[in-house]
Order: sequence, then structure tokens, then C-alpha cells
Amino acid sequence: MKFSEIAYKRVDVEAAKTKIKALTEQLEKAESFAAADKVFLEFETFCDNEISTMRTIAQIRRDIDTRDPFYDGEISFYNQEMPKLRPLFKAWTDTLLKSPFRKEFEEKYGNVSFINAEISARSFVPELVEDLQKENELVTRYTKLIASAEIPFNGETYTLSQLSPFKLSPDDETRRGAWLAEGEWYVSHQAELDEIYDSLTKLRDSMGKKLGHKSYTPLGYDRMERNCYTEKDVEGFREGVRKYLVPVATEIYKAQAKRLGFEYPLTFADKDLAFRSGNPRPVGTPQDILNMGTTFYSELSAETKEFWAHMREHEMMDVESRPGKSAGGYCTGLPLLKSPFIFANFNGTAHDVEVITHEAGHAFASYVNRDRIPSDIQWPSLEGCEVHSMSMEFFAEPWAEGFFGDDARKFRYTHLASAITFIPYGTLVDHFQHKVYEKPEMTPEERHAVWQELLKVYMPWVKLDGSPFYGEGKNWQRQSHIYKNPFYYIDYCLAQSVALQFWARIREDRNAAFETYMAYTRLGGSRVFTDLLKAAGLKNPFDPECLKQVSEEAAAFLAEYDLSGIE
Ligand SMILES: [Zn+2]
Repeated sequence: MKFSEIAYKRVDVEAAKTKIKALTEQLEKAESFAAADKVFLEFETFCDNEISTMRTIAQIRRDIDTRDPFYDGEISFYNQEMPKLRPLFKAWTDTLLKSPFRKEFEEKYGNVSFINAEISARSFVPELVEDLQKENELVTRYTKLIASAEIPFNGETYTLSQLSPFKLSPDDETRRGAWLAEGEWYVSHQAELDEIYDSLTKLRDSMGKKLGHKSYTPLGYDRMERNCYTEKDVEGFREGVRKYLVPVATEIYKAQAKRLGFEYPLTFADKDLAFRSGNPRPVGTPQDILNMGTTFYSELSAETKEFWAHMREHEMMDVESRPGKSAGGYCTGLPLLKSPFIFANFNGTAHDVEVITHEAGHAFASYVNRDRIPSDIQWPSLEGCEVHSMSMEFFAEPWAEGFFGDDARKFRYTHLASAITFIPYGTLVDHFQHKVYEKPEMTPEERHAVWQELLKVYMPWVKLDGSPFYGEGKNWQRQSHIYKNPFYYIDYCLAQSVALQFWARIREDRNAAFETYMAYTRLGGSRVFTDLLKAAGLKNPFDPECLKQVSEEAAAFLAEYDLSGIE
């Protein structure tokens, strides 16, 4: 069935309450594992098919056309009504955790769901409800402020995302002008950005303390479902980033400055332009890029071929930009249809290819695990998920000519170079937040000073030239995760460290590398991240050898990369 043909039915929240309550009682009274398991499976099917799928359909259809009053109304309904189910879900989880058959459940379905349920249980007490609402309000204020940006530039007005292509323009005047215009917008909203974050920091600190922690950080880790590594491990990872990756990234930017005739260190406005002739651009129409996706997935493996055929046949993708369509992109799941769904907005840049490789990498993992029970372990925790997507980007490199035409050679270079340079930036974002929550009493000015100190450590290739916002070293405020999802960012860095291992293995033996990828992906979220890596024979990013090895391999490759003939 095509996505557009699926019948939508609003979740009957009152009926759902009754059903969940009844199932919880049955689970409590079950006298054998067989009886408990039967209730468990019924609960799973009910929540997946009748609640989650319907709500997701409404969300996707609203995003496809935000002007459709029907689905907009449905989303308002869910925003208001769904929180009422939360206490019932909690009662169910508590009953399951205390079940006398827990051992049998763990034997049948693995222990990850139980580990995660325990983390989730300990990160919530009813006294937090008001704080969580306040946090939502502050995050919404940030989101609305960013979305409201109207930036005058070259006689027109642009939103932040509309301005992005100009920020990569090979024309120096245009590019620098776009960065300046954007920086000025942030400066004119500095007070509000400072105030929102100051409130968020203090609020989160008090939430951590209400749960008996000395700061927000342990709660932040729990909310990110960190189930197999600690703050100490992350500290060790940072050390590896500074020791092995920062020097390689520094060389990348020195070479870039030389290639483009820019002074080193670079300004923010100059550091994102890789070539005088511009960054690699995809060829063809959105349809051509989708068709190239078909070529790529058909030739990569039988599993990916089947997956992609499913996505296209059932139209489980909406990727073209249209008026009224919501901005951004994501991959989500529709359990009733046993299918993922990809939502995106093509914009004519390398981003469009990423939708096909990165977002579809997430979708592929979900498709491979579509029959896994319980469904909450179809996907691993977030760093584990980013391995699926970031690695799939590297598996697509042999098809770069099809996606990028003559720019393929530029693409292979910048793809690897930006994978390397991203990790220090991402680690900086994470390190900064540790410092923020360690000293919640800091003033906004002191927080900016902390960021500027860390910038010198993790991004020595940028120069603060005093230009508004970026050149003043205040650009952490454009990184939405810092406001919306504390401690999320390190997930991308850990995943990239694994994806780089795939990059190296693909060069040696693509088929063997793909077998490893499948060994990792087939496990879904049935094990914690570090155990998934171990099971697939991949190096753990917390092992210093991992970063040492990937940075050496990448450095050698980039140093010898033939850029001759490319302007
Ligand atoms: Zn992703």
C-alpha cells in the first residue's frame, strides 16, 4: 500500500487508557510466563499499530502540507491528549520491571529494553512535571526565534536555511556577506538567546538536584539513554580527539588555506569553502537523484535492493521541496506497515545526496529490523543509529560519479575531510556543555568565554576576527542541540569514529566491509552500543587505538589525494 492510500484513524485516547490499564492488570495477575508473554505481545501490537502508527501518519501528513487544517488539528489533539497516557505507560513499565517472569522475558527478548526502562524510570519523578513543561516552553521559544529569522541580504529577505547556500558561495564577496548578514541577525537577538539558555541551564541544574545528583549532567546522560559508557569514557574520547584528530584536521585546513590563497588560520566565512570553483554539487533533477539511489542500492547488495524497491513502490518518501511543506528532514517508522518513512526537502546541494545515503541508511536499519520484538529495540540508542547512516554515506562513494558527475573527485575528498574535521567540532560542543552544567551559576559572558577557550583547543584553524557573532566566538548559540537536546552531540562523533573504520575497510574489501555492516545492522538495538561494535568486530571509539588508527589512515589518504586539475 502506498503511503498516500493508508487510512488514518484518530487514536481514541479514552479507549487506549482503558486498554492499557486492563493489560497492565492482566500482566500483574499472570500466573505463568506464557500468560505474561501473551499480554506483553498484545500490548506491543496495540501501542505500535493503533497508537504510534496513527500518530506518525498524522505528523507526516501535517509536515507534507502544514496548511492542511485537518492534520494540523490532529497534531494539536495529540499534543494535548497524549501526555495523559504517560502515567499509564509508566505503570505498565513498572509492572514489567517487577514481573516475577522478568528473567524469562530477558531470556526471550534480551535485556536492553529492561536496562533502558530502568534508566527512564530513574530519570523521572512527578515533581519534575512542571520543570519539564517550562523546559519545553523555553525550547519552543528558541525554535520559534530561530524560525522567525528574516535576514536582509542582497536586497532580499531570507530565513536561516534559505541563506545557507549563499554561505557556501565560491564568490568571496557573496559568501562573506551572507555570513556577516547572519551574524548580525544573531547579534541583534543576543540578549534573548543568552536569557533563554541561562534559564535552561538553571532549570536543568535544579532538575538534576531534585533527583539527588550534584548537577544536571548525570540526568542529562540518563535522558540520552547512555547505557554503556560514562562521563569518564567521554573524557577519554576527548583526549583522543585532541591528540589524534585535531592535528589531522589542522593539516586539512592549512592545505585548504593554501589551495584557496586564504590566510591561515581561517575565518568562519572562509573555512567552509573547500575549492575555488565551489564545493561539490549533485547533478540532475530530484528525480535523477532518486533514480541514482535506485542504482546505488540495487548494486550494493540484495538486502539494500529489496529495501529501496519497497521504499519507492510504496512511496515511503517525500523529499521534494514544495510550498507549505515543513522545513527539515527525518526518518521515522510506521510499525503497522512494517516500513520506515523518509521526509526531506531537496535544495540542490550535496544535502540531497545525503538524504539518499544518510537518511536512507537509518531507514534501511529500521527495515532490516522491522520484525524485531519489542519494537523499542528495532533501533539502538542514537550513537548506534548514526553508525547506520554515516557509514552508508561511505558505502555510496563508489557511486559518486552518478550523484556528482564531474564533481565526484571533489566529493570524495571533502566527504572524508569533513568527516575528520567534524569530530573536533562535535566534541567541542559536548565539552562545552559539561562545563556549563558543572557551573550553572556562570553569567552569559562567562559562558561565551568558556566557548572561546575551548575553540582554541578544538578548532585552532579558525581565527576570531571580531566579525559579528562568529568572529566574536559566540557561535555555539546556533547549534540547536545545545538548547534542545543537551549532550546529544557526542553521539555523532562516536558514530563518525565507527563510520571512518568502514571508510578504511571499504577501500580494502567492499564486500567484507558490507558483511561487517550487516552484522552490526542486523542486531538492531538488541545490544548496547559498545556490545554491538564488539559483536560486529568493530573498534570501540573509547579505545584510544580507534581514533589513532582512523586518523592516521585518513591523514595518509588525504595527503596523497590527487587534486590536480581541480580549481
Ligand atoms: Zn542521522
